[in-house]
Amino acid sequence: MSTAPLEPLAQVTAFLNRRHTSFIDGRSIDVHAGEVAEVFNPASGAPLAQLVMAGAEQVEQAVAAAQRAFRAGVWSGLRPADRERILLRFAEVVEAHGEELAQLETLNQGKSIHIARAIEVGASVEYMRYMAGWATKLEGQTLDVSIPVPPGTHYNAYTRREPVGVVAGIVPWNFPLMIAIWKIIPALAAGCTIVIKPADETPLTALRLAELAIEAGIPPGVLNVLVGRGASAGAALVADPRVAKVTFTGSTPVGKLIGTAALQNMTRFSLELGGKNPMLVLPDADLGKAVGGALMGGLLNQGQVCAAASRIYVQRSRYNDFVEALAAAVKGMSIGAGMDPTAQINPLVSRRQQSSVLGHLDKARAQGAQVVTGGAAPELPGFFVQPTVLAGVEQSMAAAREEIFGPVLSVLAYDSVDEALTLVNDSQYGLAASLWTNDLSQAMRLIPQIEAGTVWVNTHVPLDPNLPFGGHKQSGVGREFGRGAVEAFTELKSVCIAY
Ligand code: NAD
Repeated sequence: MSTAPLEPLAQVTAFLNRRHTSFIDGRSIDVHAGEVAEVFNPASGAPLAQLVMAGAEQVEQAVAAAQRAFRAGVWSGLRPADRERILLRFAEVVEAHGEELAQLETLNQGKSIHIARAIEVGASVEYMRYMAGWATKLEGQTLDVSIPVPPGTHYNAYTRREPVGVVAGIVPWNFPLMIAIWKIIPALAAGCTIVIKPADETPLTALRLAELAIEAGIPPGVLNVLVGRGASAGAALVADPRVAKVTFTGSTPVGKLIGTAALQNMTRFSLELGGKNPMLVLPDADLGKAVGGALMGGLLNQGQVCAAASRIYVQRSRYNDFVEALAAAVKGMSIGAGMDPTAQINPLVSRRQQSSVLGHLDKARAQGAQVVTGGAAPELPGFFVQPTVLAGVEQSMAAAREEIFGPVLSVLAYDSVDEALTLVNDSQYGLAASLWTNDLSQAMRLIPQIEAGTVWVNTHVPLDPNLPFGGHKQSGVGREFGRGAVEAFTELKSVCIAY
């Protein structure tokens, strides 16, 4: 392990030393009772900050604040151009506080400071600017209608998009700041107000973000953050009939609970869930590029990426060469804290996630997979797992079917391309997939046949605010990014005028 960790900025230390509560109606609320919880630094396992977890009373307060702000029109009643301008200012404020937010995320989530700077902050600021622009671009249609009665009556019909109302945004722990922003900005661009429930493990950047929103001029009550447990505060938020739309990112089992609860009130919902994403290395592929793609696509954020490449299909004749090259590249990776800028593999988010990944590795061994490199926790105090390559994986094994959400790459062999296509689609999930080839005809033939919301060719994992993202099958319902993401925070109203 290398030793040169970054010292946190003074404002980061000051923020960590505060006792945090939920952020409701423009301020951190005073609470005198309730569960006090700690969040941890995954690099050391040491406590990082203290929070008072929200109970039913705070859920009630947060939804009431969001509903008041919505009904008063302090946000939805602004000119779209004013909402856009304020959201652009919000992006500027986040950018100006970028290093502070990146350090806070690295300390709380464990990820590399480089990823925190480039993705949690950098890509999110671009996303904020892109989504801000939609505030002024929502549109309806004018429609010709043929209503015959009463005779002689003329009709004019059109549709308009209106904000759906109070949104509940439930966020996981893998990209806490970025995924909160994915929910907040399109909801606000559409004119909604929102209550965000960050993951229990990683609430800090969302709390800081809410403070920065006020600094940017977003009115109190428009963005609220509830720190609380998923099964209590999260569930109460989803079940609140004043919530008009739930946008959830997280695991498939919790997504099903949320969808079921939302249906009871006919609350609109979108779900971005898990994945077991294939990488199909076609017979003509450049193996060096495919190995690079597997490292980027599979080990980014320690594999705690819903779209991570986690099952890699290579033709049998090139299988050993690929496994050898991949293992050689993985073996050389340095392991250390996210605040150590030289470390390439960082801790997982929690002790629980570390145990879960180690449990998947035990199961893989027991089912006959071969650990080519890695396969254990290094002798370090934090929540680390060595980057791991599994060979000899068969389609029936858990390592090819279950989401591991850790730094584990399973490599499988295929004989024909058509067999490989069957294996790629043989999954309950359908979030993303990648093809590795320079054979254009083969790629164009396969793309429509792959059951996934995103197909990359010769790359794996890049996202863009203008490119819809979401899953087929059990990977979810709905799409984030692009026009559709903003429209998903609106209701379509039909207007018909007789004259
Ligand atoms: P999780 O489902 O356990 O938790 C996600 C969020 O839901 C947390 O905020 C949690 O507190 C909350 N929650 C838990 N139970 C709840 C309930 N009953 N009602 C309301 N809220 C509840 O998932 P996680 O462990 O935080 O994240 C990892 C999972 O998320 C992985 O499966 C991963 O694939 C998925 N994920 C998907 C995407 C995507 O875009 N598709 C992105 C990131 C992560």
